[in-house]
Amino acid sequence: MRIEAAARAAGRDPSQVRLLAVSKTWPAESVEAAAQAGQQAFGENYVQEGVAKVEALAALQLEWHFIGPLQSNKSRPVANAFQWVHSIDRLKIAERLSSQRDIHLPALNVCIQVNVSGEASKSGVAPAELPALARAVAALPRLRLRGLMAIPEPTDDVALQRERFATLRRLKESLEAEGFALDTLSMGMSDDLEAAIAEGATLVRVGTAIFGSRSYPAP
Ligand SMILES: *Cc1c(COP(=O)(O)O)cnc(C)c1O
Repeated sequence: MRIEAAARAAGRDPSQVRLLAVSKTWPAESVEAAAQAGQQAFGENYVQEGVAKVEALAALQLEWHFIGPLQSNKSRPVANAFQWVHSIDRLKIAERLSSQRDIHLPALNVCIQVNVSGEASKSGVAPAELPALARAVAALPRLRLRGLMAIPEPTDDVALQRERFATLRRLKESLEAEGFALDTLSMGMSDDLEAAIAEGATLVRVGTAIFGSRSYPAP
């Protein structure tokens, strides 16, 4: 499919790019059908909706990633229902997730979300503030810092898409040069996954291209 073609075009091994199926707005039955077709990892944006699906499908032993904006007062269910959180953008939320993560569960895998679109976007930490946040997050006992995530502003300009994804890749490389062991670049969605894979994405978050157009927008 598209991931394999994009990886080969970039001279990369397709097995180095994971597919996260973004199931927000789709019912548990849709997730179940994708799981039966072999999909293992699913992404959710909204706390209540996501936790309900995690609980309804617990028997399937899927891997759940929280990828949406997270308010502090809703961190507890996320800390315990999900295996991954991609949207860490400030220390306070990381501290809450770490202290709320059940001691019997393995450490929560996290990515720091970075704003690579400058003024055009408000979500994610500014690149200049990333190293300090990464050090603080890596020091938290119940979190495991795996890498970086970005949602660049949508654009049809493929060169600009690549430039923003390259920015995230370079930020990961500079953290690695500082000694961080990171294995995840969470970048690329239905409309820009080819550019993301060309710039080193290890995980692409794909909703529409798997499930179809969502019938209701963000609540
Ligand atoms: C909705 C969403 C996606 C998937 O977007 P599509 O364009 O449907 O592939 C990926 N990442 C995040 C953070 C999202 O909110």
